[in-house]
Amino acid sequence: MTAKLIDGRAAAAALRARVAETAADFKNTVGRAPGLAVGLVGDHPPSAAYVRSKAKATVEAGMASFEHKLPADIGQNDLLALIDELNTDPQVDGILVQMPLPRHMDEAAVLMRIDPGKDVDGFHPVNAGLLATGLDGLVPCTPLGCLMLLEQELGDLTGLDAIVVGRSNIVGKPMAQLLIRASCTVTVAHSRTRDLPAAVRRADIVVAAAGRPELIRGDWLKPGATVIDVGQERVEQADGTRKLLGDVAFDEAVEVAGAITPVPGGVGPMTIACLLRNTVAAAYRRSGLPDPSGL
Ligand code: NAP
Repeated sequence: MTAKLIDGRAAAAALRARVAETAADFKNTVGRAPGLAVGLVGDHPPSAAYVRSKAKATVEAGMASFEHKLPADIGQNDLLALIDELNTDPQVDGILVQMPLPRHMDEAAVLMRIDPGKDVDGFHPVNAGLLATGLDGLVPCTPLGCLMLLEQELGDLTGLDAIVVGRSNIVGKPMAQLLIRASCTVTVAHSRTRDLPAAVRRADIVVAAAGRPELIRGDWLKPGATVIDVGQERVEQADGTRKLLGDVAFDEAVEVAGAITPVPGGVGPMTIACLLRNTVAAAYRRSGLPDPSGL
């Protein structure tokens, strides 16, 4: 079997187009564009690049982007004061603080300070709690993107066996919650799981989010399984170049799976598209408008 490739770039472009239409409707109704504020502390190059691409995508979707670049040695109280300001700014619907923060800062305290209604990363414990209790909140972008790709590929997920490899707060746990909400039977695996290959072999859906390049081998997969590879790690090759690898041994898996996301071009593009989606959704909710359809 040669698996179908799940095209995350195309799915993300379609979502971004729907977000842009919805943002334009919001602007017509409310008289201003939805706004996303992004805070960057220090000049860590990958974080600065993420912030640039988020700001660019925000503007391309017809929304307002507010960038706040702060020096690496800024005190935590100054960052908290900025968050307080953004929490009450009526032009700002979404707030995101780019992680990781410098060591002298308490990331949990910073995340907790963000108004849950503007927490477009979905990392605030209130949003985690809403997701866990099956209520509407803001859902972390990467798992939300994975769920969209799965539903696009498989339609109704009811009754399917799913495994999530990884239990982080930003990917693994919210992914598992979303799959439970979609009526899958969910296994969550982690570094202490005893027989990972056997657990993976039972699954119709495999979401790999371990950050361990090529951990999951082709012969671990159930034939026809749908594989979503969240992992993206740069690994040095024999010739000295660096290659972006997922958590799944792609060349092996493609012979066994029914459908699979490539790395790059799978989950990655969906993450920013879902950030834009969450910003528009937050803008509608904050303005007392009904949730927009089609997002
Ligand atoms: P993380 O916080 O390091 O969590 C990794 C999880 O994987 C942990 O729960 C860990 O288990 C588990 N794990 C590690 N080694 C394992 C093994 N050998 N077998 C089974 N489980 C194992 O990572 P993360 O932030 O969730 O990110 C995971 C990957 O996704 C990374 O490659 C990251 O770059 C990528 N990512 C991609 C996007 C995107 O937009 N495409 C977004 C976010 C993350 P323990 O809990 O037992 O330690």
